[in-house]
Amino acid sequence: THFQARAGLVSALAGRTPPAIRALDGVDLTIGEREIVGLVGESGCGKSTLGMSLVRMYEPTGGDVLYHSEPVTHLKGRALKQYRREAQIIFQDPYSSLNPRLTIGQIIEEPLKIHGIGPALERRALIARALDHVRIPASTHLDSYPSDLSGGQRQRVAIARALVLEPRFIVADEPVSMLDVSIQASVLELLDELSRELGLAVLYISHDIATVGYICNHVAVMYLGQIVEEGPAEDILAEPLHPYTQRLMAAIPNMTPGAVRSRIELKGDVPSPQNIPPGCRFSSRCPFATDLCTSVAPELATLADGRRVRCHLYDGAIAEAYPGLTPPR
Ligand code: SF4
Ligand code: MG
Repeated sequence: THFQARAGLVSALAGRTPPAIRALDGVDLTIGEREIVGLVGESGCGKSTLGMSLVRMYEPTGGDVLYHSEPVTHLKGRALKQYRREAQIIFQDPYSSLNPRLTIGQIIEEPLKIHGIGPALERRALIARALDHVRIPASTHLDSYPSDLSGGQRQRVAIARALVLEPRFIVADEPVSMLDVSIQASVLELLDELSRELGLAVLYISHDIATVGYICNHVAVMYLGQIVEEGPAEDILAEPLHPYTQRLMAAIPNMTPGAVRSRIELKGDVPSPQNIPPGCRFSSRCPFATDLCTSVAPELATLADGRRVRCHLYDGAIAEAYPGLTPPR
């Protein structure tokens, strides 16, 4: 049975006073079983809004989220509760997301109680299995408090709390960005192992394109609520096509000793969603921008190798009409 969580969302941020802000525009992503899709972009680009819309924590005003090819956008009551069990989200901050007054056992038990799963003996077995999944020994940690744990252990407990309901789909929203760099890789590896062991579909959200290389099969790069580039992770990391992706990649410190670090800075800040530039949304920060870019919005085009990119530089017809343009490929 093939699993799909798919979103094609057009949504507005909270606040009913016009003008409505389009946080996401024509975003279309498919995540399969045992697949980790990376969603990358700077803060404020709409990544978290998309993640929360997928698990129905946030109500999109348009578009659809499909789960097993069925829309979940209008689920109510029992069906919504069941979906909330199957689609879980893990947040960035393992310090504020765990109640400091509850023990680890109680924290992981909470969602089981909310979903009426029990008796207590069965819940204990499920809690032990969830801790086992995240490689934390229940025998020593069940009665510990969050303050007894390191940041990495806390995030593992947050993952166990999500896993205890046996979800099929997990949104991991910046799960390692508040953790010490030295332990980030181990938490990402755990997500990767869990995806394969449990057949989970994972949306991994991050502002850091360097981390998606560890675990993602597929990557979507987002800018101001739009996907600007999408394709297999190894292709995008080896050869980023969109000028925005190229700049995200250039911002990664070069770890090779003695190498000259070519650092191309992104100029300026992300424009606010109320003030989206005409034409290409990236034009106010793009070093390749032409008059065409500031007047005509590029489509997300599929290239011969199947990758998708939203930039006039890769549009053959336009490149012909503007012979001065040289694709940065
Ligand atoms: Fe830059 Fe123009 Fe491509 Fe936009 S369409 S990314 S402004 S070259
Ligand atoms: Mg965010």
